[in-house]
Amino acid sequence: ALQQADAVVASVCAFCGVGCQLDYRVKDNKILEAVGRDGPANHGRLCVKGRYGYDYVQSAERLTVPLMRREGVAKDPADIALVRQGLKPLSDLFREASWDEALDFAATGLRQLRDSHALGADSPLAGFGSAKGSNEEAYLFQKLVRQGFGTNNVDHCTRLCHASSVAALLEGIGSGSVSNPVADVAQAEVILLIGANPSSNHPVAASFIKNAVKAGSTLIVADPRRAPMARFARWHLAFRPDSDVALLNGMLHTIIDEGLTDPAFIAARVNGFEALKAAVAECTPERMSEICGIAPELIREVARCYATAKSAMILWGMGISQHVHGTDNARCLIALAMITGQIGRPGTGLHPLRGQNNVQGASDAGLIPMMLPNYQRVARAEVREQFEALWAVPLSSTPGLTVVEIMHAASEGRIKGMFVEGENPAMSDPDLDHARRALAGLQHLVVQDIFATETALLADVILPASAHAEKWGSYTNTDRLIQLGRPAITPPGDARQDLWIIEQLGRRLGLPWAYWTEADGQGHAAAEAPTARVYEEMRQVMAPLAGVPWSRLQRENAVTTPAAREDEPGERVVFHDHFPLADGRSQLVPATFTPGPEQPDAQYPLVLTTGRVLEHWHTGAMTRRATALEALAPAPQINIHPEDAAGLHLHDGQTVDLRSRHGQVQAQVQLSREVQPGQVFLPFCYWEAAANLLTGDALDAVGKIPGFKVTAVRVEAL
Ligand code: SF4
Repeated sequence: ALQQADAVVASVCAFCGVGCQLDYRVKDNKILEAVGRDGPANHGRLCVKGRYGYDYVQSAERLTVPLMRREGVAKDPADIALVRQGLKPLSDLFREASWDEALDFAATGLRQLRDSHALGADSPLAGFGSAKGSNEEAYLFQKLVRQGFGTNNVDHCTRLCHASSVAALLEGIGSGSVSNPVADVAQAEVILLIGANPSSNHPVAASFIKNAVKAGSTLIVADPRRAPMARFARWHLAFRPDSDVALLNGMLHTIIDEGLTDPAFIAARVNGFEALKAAVAECTPERMSEICGIAPELIREVARCYATAKSAMILWGMGISQHVHGTDNARCLIALAMITGQIGRPGTGLHPLRGQNNVQGASDAGLIPMMLPNYQRVARAEVREQFEALWAVPLSSTPGLTVVEIMHAASEGRIKGMFVEGENPAMSDPDLDHARRALAGLQHLVVQDIFATETALLADVILPASAHAEKWGSYTNTDRLIQLGRPAITPPGDARQDLWIIEQLGRRLGLPWAYWTEADGQGHAAAEAPTARVYEEMRQVMAPLAGVPWSRLQRENAVTTPAAREDEPGERVVFHDHFPLADGRSQLVPATFTPGPEQPDAQYPLVLTTGRVLEHWHTGAMTRRATALEALAPAPQINIHPEDAAGLHLHDGQTVDLRSRHGQVQAQVQLSREVQPGQVFLPFCYWEAAANLLTGDALDAVGKIPGFKVTAVRVEAL
């Protein structure tokens, strides 16, 4: 392949938040292979997804022409399985249309709903953008919803990912971003990895952690599942699912009780220590052990190890955030770092591992309902005034609805029209049966995507868009590193650039947009100038990008943010001497353990955890159409501990029924000691056994994230 390529294009990986740089080797508008580049986040490495997962862009299933629902064909969630099984052709549901017809239809439906109802909080419209898209797409999408729809009802998959972590971080230290990059584990004496499975979800980050352990760092893994990183850990704390607060309060109690805090740091930089001390006074390791199942002396040992290290870093994933008390979980982690002064230096700090390749950037760019770009709250008049001056339109002061709230509003008829760009809520939302019916019940659903996703199958109109390797765009990884993605190939057929499509809808909604000019073409091929125009507008309202003009991105490929000036390298480690809250100090918020709503009982005796597998990404829309990845992991498997399987008389490979209080799926048993007895695990990427048919939609009160990690289920032989 090396000899055959006639072009080599430097870009970034389309999948996870690690942000690996790669070269696409291209010939005749086809990607021949992807090879790791020496980027700051990967040093030449790629995982199996980055290395072999790119050929979804060349899938025969790519959408190549706009599709409109055939007259008289109802929107029916049952069609999802029929189309996927090949029992119903897509052409039974949709007919081909010209771009003008499809865009006019899409915009007319949205405009009529906007113009015949109230704006703002009572708007019947909502939009889901995507963390798979670029910063520029995220910015323009949220601007379309706010300026063109007249509402803040805009959100994306961060709500299902790290919304609770970000809520706790904004409250506690004034910034939702990481304090230190992953690579800082090399300088950490102790690494606490909790509720994360980087071997599957952030494999290149996992390699940095393994190397740090080999070089002498002590790794503590805390997770109900014995995921692969546990093999490298000094301790694996397999606490009971949903008991994070108990375990962490036991550690906080120990640190305070044994005088292992950093009094000078607390005096200089922390508010709320006395309240925290009082709140955890009764949380002895003995008491917390009864809840979390970890021996009291082990809780003490781990707490001492973390608190007394010269440098200790905490990394966490959705095992912390995807709970109905996810914000409380993250508050405890913040408290650990604050009372021990383990922040503001290399090898310390707080790192919520971001999932999607641009979930950090999409959130930064304002693709969230309560905040305009750069986390500026819509409720604040001076913030709105700034954006109203820039966008020349009055803005709603009411924070919009979040993802699951939008689904509820849709099922109640309060949300009547939606624009979904690149997201797949018909696979990713909790209580999927409810979510799919809500989507099918919308008066007007516009979907922009590269495939006929499960969500697209419920649409009124589908707009065929561009894949990551077909467009310009900037992406911000988990380390706050903004990187440039370049187009390697052009989209198939009459698929168009996402920015062009969003702008076309904006213009049809009456917006005076001119990012994409005649000279830039009609969106068939990537165009750098419109992307740079959107980026430069975004930079006007996003202070962390002040020192990163588009020309610098072009020159350097990757720049750490915040970067105040163009001649500065950007801040790898933040919070050296203050936190970005009003008084510059952090604010501790104590948490109390409370049992969640999904308690096992005689009818549903097991606890289901959902998550990802190494080979597939998120809802599988891309990776399940990547030849090598699908060959490696073609079917859903339920991990069950051998003891449970023996008790239920199940054997490896047997197809079983998995039932919860919310739904039912069938999948094959895979005996596994990664789960504890009493637990099962199912990835959420398979439409054949969509895990979210089983999950409930109870939400964290602050972050509004569902409790995906804990669902009471039972397994039955068929
Ligand atoms: Fe892509 Fe993440 Fe794998 Fe890197 S670790 S190659 S960014 S999926």
